[in-house]
Amino acid sequence: MQRYQLFIDGQFSDAASGNWFDSYNPFTGEVWAQIAAGGAEDVERAVQAAHRAFTSGPWPALSASQRGALLRKLGDLIARDAGKLAECEVRDNGKLIAEMRGQLNYIPQWFYYFGGLADKVQGAVIPLDKQDYFNFTRHEPVGVVAAITPWNSPLLLTAWKIAPALAAGCTVVLKPSEYTSASTLEFVRLFEEAGFPPGVINVVSGFGKDVGTPLVEHPLVRKISFTGSDATGRAINRSAAGQFKRVSLELGGKSPNIVFADARLDDAVNGAVSGIFAATGQTCIAGSRLLLQEDIHDAFLEKLTALARTARMGDPLDGGTQVGPITTRQQYEKVLSYIDIARQDGARLVLGGAPATRPECGRGWFIEPTIFSEVKNRMRIAQEEVFGPVLSVIRFKDEEEAAAIANDSPYGLGAGVWTSDIGRAFRMSAKIQSGTVWVNTYRAVSYMSPFGGYKDSGLGRENGMDAIHEYLQVKSVWINTGAATGNPFTMR
Ligand code: NAD
Repeated sequence: MQRYQLFIDGQFSDAASGNWFDSYNPFTGEVWAQIAAGGAEDVERAVQAAHRAFTSGPWPALSASQRGALLRKLGDLIARDAGKLAECEVRDNGKLIAEMRGQLNYIPQWFYYFGGLADKVQGAVIPLDKQDYFNFTRHEPVGVVAAITPWNSPLLLTAWKIAPALAAGCTVVLKPSEYTSASTLEFVRLFEEAGFPPGVINVVSGFGKDVGTPLVEHPLVRKISFTGSDATGRAINRSAAGQFKRVSLELGGKSPNIVFADARLDDAVNGAVSGIFAATGQTCIAGSRLLLQEDIHDAFLEKLTALARTARMGDPLDGGTQVGPITTRQQYEKVLSYIDIARQDGARLVLGGAPATRPECGRGWFIEPTIFSEVKNRMRIAQEEVFGPVLSVIRFKDEEEAAAIANDSPYGLGAGVWTSDIGRAFRMSAKIQSGTVWVNTYRAVSYMSPFGGYKDSGLGRENGMDAIHEYLQVKSVWINTGAATGNPFTMR
């Protein structure tokens, strides 16, 4: 049995409590690793280590270019160990090996990009309206960052947070999801080899209430970067407000994938399948509401169902598998309960709708790719995030109705628009209230392009130039080049 310890101040150690919890392989349904169960005492040690590393020792003395070089070295080490890290996450999370190989090939780019950006974030000289004054700005790191990640894409989402945080000069205490801590604890081994000083990165594994809450509340934490559910995001935002902490929140979604009759329909069918069934629907950007223009509705649904029916399910470590298991038993039950709700609310089941009992699924937590048609946008299945392989198909008449349905959601994370009309592509991109709009594609992301939510999907942006500013604060410095004379009691 593999055991994973906490990583604090450059050292692996057991939790102060000496407790461990189990991590399950979703394909076998069995425990494959044990994870140290951190608590408030471990959080205290980790935050103190991160604070020491932020305020003293080699880290704050490094130039931005030197920090950038460390990040690039880390990127090289991730590329070297890509296979091992990918397999660890497949075992822990049930993600497909094909997806994880792709992710691990791409994750180093976050460290190259933000490593390159570290020494290009400049303050400015301000052309003032006052004589004899010189004014300039400095961009300074905010301090200790709490990075809290969910279970659905642990390594990728960790990279999205720590690459810009470290490039900015912050130090980090990372708390992975209690369901999927192993790949993060495997990855953190690389920091020492890359040359990062102790305390710059720390990982405290454990449960939300035991580790997440004391971490968010710790007065030395100045910024919280959270990805997870909107319920937890709301609680974190409330708690952070009491100490005026900076917060970025990447939360849930109920993203519309909109197909117009003038679209290249075969492409759109592929886009609809990848929108909802990639990663078994367990992505925040899942295109879980498929909006079909009425003229093509029936023909499109037929093609879509035929393609979805061919999905190969089974062992996520097998390169030919297309749909893997649900990551946790709780999530498996939640998805099944939403299938019942959709049925009761009058949606029409056209595919799946049950646990997968194919022999190649073994004893894993599998659910058949599921499609409901005749969904009304006010039904719960169209309003609430399912986070599984369940698609809701909704009809619309024209652009105006498509935009109205798309925006009738508390969320605003992603949206797809499939059309051959460039004018319509621009109009829809402007009308849809979401942080990302994809035209004739779905789920493209890059280290270079800002990602984040409108409305209940969150605050702040990850990736691209915007992301580094989430970890910086601006200082305005005034220099008087003249004499400090005049009446001291009047304002200058
Ligand atoms: P979750 O909110 O249950 O947990 C996320 C993390 O927060 C975990 O590490 C958990 O231990 C921790 N946590 C729980 N309670 C806490 C508390 N009170 N204080 C601090 N930390 C606490 O979410 P989840 O189920 O792990 O993840 C799925 C959710 O994440 C979905 O809603 C999904 O849409 C969202 N998500 C969003 C994005 C995005 O970029 N917008 C990406 C991936 C996932």
